[in-house]
Amino acid sequence: MESQESHNKLHVVFLPYPTPGHMIPMIDTARLFAKHGVNVTIITTHANASTFQKTIDNDFNSGYSIKTKLIRFPSAQLGLPDGVENIKDGTSFEMLGKISRGISMLQDPIEVLLQDLQPDCIVTDMMYAWTVEAAAKLGVPRIYYYSSSYFSNCAANFIMKYRPHDNLVSDTHKFTIPGLPHTIEMTSLQIPVWLREKNAVTAYFEPIFKSEERSYGTLYNSFHELESDYEKLNKTTMGIKSWSVGPVSAWANKDDERKTNRGQREKNIGNETELLNWLNSHQNESILYVSFGSLTRLFHVQIVELVYGLENSCHNFIWVVRKNDVDDSENIFLQDFEERMKESKKGYIIWNWAPQLLILDHPAIGGIVTHCGWNSILESLSVGLPMITWPMFAEQFYNEKLLVDVLKIGVPVGAKVNKFWLGTVEEIVVRREEIAKAVENLMGSGEESKEMRMRAKKLGDAAKRSIEEGGDSYNNLLQLIDELKSLKKSKALGEKAD
Ligand code: UDP
Repeated sequence: MESQESHNKLHVVFLPYPTPGHMIPMIDTARLFAKHGVNVTIITTHANASTFQKTIDNDFNSGYSIKTKLIRFPSAQLGLPDGVENIKDGTSFEMLGKISRGISMLQDPIEVLLQDLQPDCIVTDMMYAWTVEAAAKLGVPRIYYYSSSYFSNCAANFIMKYRPHDNLVSDTHKFTIPGLPHTIEMTSLQIPVWLREKNAVTAYFEPIFKSEERSYGTLYNSFHELESDYEKLNKTTMGIKSWSVGPVSAWANKDDERKTNRGQREKNIGNETELLNWLNSHQNESILYVSFGSLTRLFHVQIVELVYGLENSCHNFIWVVRKNDVDDSENIFLQDFEERMKESKKGYIIWNWAPQLLILDHPAIGGIVTHCGWNSILESLSVGLPMITWPMFAEQFYNEKLLVDVLKIGVPVGAKVNKFWLGTVEEIVVRREEIAKAVENLMGSGEESKEMRMRAKKLGDAAKRSIEEGGDSYNNLLQLIDELKSLKKSKALGEKAD
């Protein structure tokens, strides 16, 4: 039976969307709420819970009020193998379609559970536009969780509203994004296809973006000193409150031994001791970490270019490579490369999933090649690392602009086309010479590289300050929790008076 104390506590339900780039920061945020006295429930499916449950159990056993409520993913109904419940498991369009369908089918069981739980607030992933009505039915605030930068949200909203890319002579012609405090130029090819031209996906995404304005407020995994102009612009444009509470990865995983296992099922964790030994055997800031996040798959021609680009560069690296489920000759090509790199001690290959936080934290890491996923950016920034930017899809090209043009801590590799992560645009390749040049510019001893490194370090320090007691993000989280408590109180008083 629930105690009176836990009944009176502010109860917040978190609804993560099952893809690592959305789920990981939301779980970190949920844990932060619990660590600040909130009663937290995370609703998810079995296989998704298995990627973070041990951390939640640890928090619970340390006395925090946090638990996971499980709902069944309709795998059998959709003809999906057991355990395939996450966008990242979708290795073909057909499979991805089924997983997305399965996720939308979770709405009904989640709504039933919400009625049962009667939370005081719902923190929902942006992808669940239907939670506007669900929160209204319960009479509680809906907090929209945006899993990328303020900058990217402003850029996307202004491009959606003003369509500056319409009527250009070609899709490689540059346009300026209207309404932004900096002059930011892009080409049509760099924005998502659904925004480039209206299609069925536009009809799917527009209500998702629009649902932000229909929320009580938005949570951002960002911090004031990082993008204050855009934090302000977003608040005025949306007309709702927002709270920057990031970087949540650095905050929630402070002193956490479980950094290694983050985002992955226990059984899939690789050989951490060997990796740490390899890192320990290198000088400080001498290794480049190469990762394209949880979804991107490089097509074969691009893999070949990257292999020779890295091999021809004068710097050591760690590369996270996804195994090819279809083409074994590619795996063999990569295994040969792995052998060569082992012998020369120049490179270390991690297959499928890397303990990213653990690696980035190591002093031997000097920079990262990133696809500009927001979490990877924040995780690198938190430890003061500059980046080579290689955006692939979604809002990643906007994030590249923030890193390169605004913050000046990124070297662009020269990516030109925004394409769906499972799609193959074989003719558009970043060549080995471009890759080796970007590596030299970032990891070399040139003046530009030194300045970038200094700026990244300063931002890393600012990130650390923001999550310490009294820092901006710290205060924002506490202020939000207080506000939600007051709303709960007013609601209770209102109900008594009725
Ligand atoms: N990640 C990881 N190991 C990997 C790949 C990804 O730990 O091998 C984590 C990474 O630390 C980040 C998240 O997965 O927290 C990926 O999110 P991001 O926004 O960078 O990119 P996405 O995967 O959404 O494209």
